[in-house]
Amino acid sequence: MIALVWFRRDLRLADNPALHAAVVSGAVVVPVFIWAPEEEAPWSPGAASQWWLHQSLGALAASLSEQGSRLTIRRGPSLEVLLKLAEETRATSVFWNRLYSPAEMARDRDTAAALQKRGLSVSTFAGALLREPEEVRNTSGKPFQVFTPFYKTYLPAEFSKPVGKPQQMAAPEAWPSSLAVSDLALEPKIDWAEGLRESWEPGERGARRHTADFLDGGMSQYSTERDRPDRTGTSRLSPHLHFGEMSPRQLWHAVRRRPAHPDAESYLRQIVWREFAHHLLFHFPETPSQPLRPEFRRFPWRHDPAAFRAWTRGRTGYPLVDAGMRELWHTGWMHNRVRLVAASFLVKHLLIPWQEGAAWFWDTLVDADLANNTLGWQWVAGCGADAAPYFRIFNPTLQAEKFDPEGAYVRRWVPEFGQASYPRPIVAHAAARQRALDALAAIQSR
Ligand code: FAD
Repeated sequence: MIALVWFRRDLRLADNPALHAAVVSGAVVVPVFIWAPEEEAPWSPGAASQWWLHQSLGALAASLSEQGSRLTIRRGPSLEVLLKLAEETRATSVFWNRLYSPAEMARDRDTAAALQKRGLSVSTFAGALLREPEEVRNTSGKPFQVFTPFYKTYLPAEFSKPVGKPQQMAAPEAWPSSLAVSDLALEPKIDWAEGLRESWEPGERGARRHTADFLDGGMSQYSTERDRPDRTGTSRLSPHLHFGEMSPRQLWHAVRRRPAHPDAESYLRQIVWREFAHHLLFHFPETPSQPLRPEFRRFPWRHDPAAFRAWTRGRTGYPLVDAGMRELWHTGWMHNRVRLVAASFLVKHLLIPWQEGAAWFWDTLVDADLANNTLGWQWVAGCGADAAPYFRIFNPTLQAEKFDPEGAYVRRWVPEFGQASYPRPIVAHAAARQRALDALAAIQSR
């Protein structure tokens, strides 16, 4: 009996429910990755995500070969490849872990139906979240739109223990042909990725090492340090979670295994924000492009390519915003506090649509995640679920004084700050604030 295991954003061997089920079924497993970015359009992986994916696929292929197995890599369309591989290998079943973005759910539904029609058995599993998005409902049976009551439903929950990685995996008589990872051309043609290479270790092993370092170190001060971009106060596990190099269930249990201290709860709360983001995307699939609160469809956004460009380059003249945008460009990641300030500056000080900022983040973040990015931007813009009210407008200078009090973060990313070469502010804070409040009043008065 031969089974295909279709890897997508679950690039790990341990606690991988689809892989585990295929192995315990007694089947000979053929692991497959299919590159079909057009099937995720308009949210096919951006440039930084593709860089990560290249490294992570290399790591997965190496781990599989240590187990006596092999990763078969092909280009899509996914359904065609799965049917062809089933024919080539005589596989009778296909296993995968479910994903929750609208395009991926539609693809999964259609693929499963077409495979079954051709006589293949299809088994799908929950591996990306702690709980399935449709499972969590408020007392009226509706999806949650407020975080705290959503979070409270997780506190008493017991999640089953993660499953280990499969031991030796049986090999088929012949392996199907495979592309090399480099054939997918995921790495940039002009090498801008040096900063990414210096900052990250993609893959399951890197994720495990990084988690252990965080749990032994940073987590004990998480609640006090998590807002400090000048310190390593957060776990930086977001790209590992996004690519499924570590499951949220592994992380949840790893945190819970440590002697209880108050910071563990505060960290687990963030993991539940990730669940909340997926819950919202599942129930409100139009939110990557449309505000959840309909009155924001009439918001008088401005079209200002020069200001947008200054923001993307980290040349707004507001040092905390610029430091964040440069950290993003160099490392593919930005600290959460600075994401809040930089995003707020774009949508409030510059009145540029949040969708433009979300698209820039999508291309440049190594952790670009449709659920989390949509929640983050709609939260900042005041148009999403449980969002910050639009009228609360961060003063980027005060935010810098509060969260980067010695200026170490700004000095690191904006070394010319204070010199003649550093740009003057592209907008004055007080005037920009008033303009944003006027724009809000315009949609409220109609
Ligand atoms: P930690 O503080 O160590 O948190 C642990 C994990 O919890 C994170 O890895 C992440 O998976 C989850 N988490 C933490 N905060 C949030 C949050 N606010 N919403 C959802 N999940 C959260 N996160 C992404 O993973 N991808 C994105 O594309 C993304 N875009 C964002 C855009 C904006 C405008 C904002 C304000 C936030 C965005 N976030 C996004 C959320 C958050 O900034 C990152 O998850 C966090 O900075 C990642 O760093 P960390 O792993 O050190 O987080």
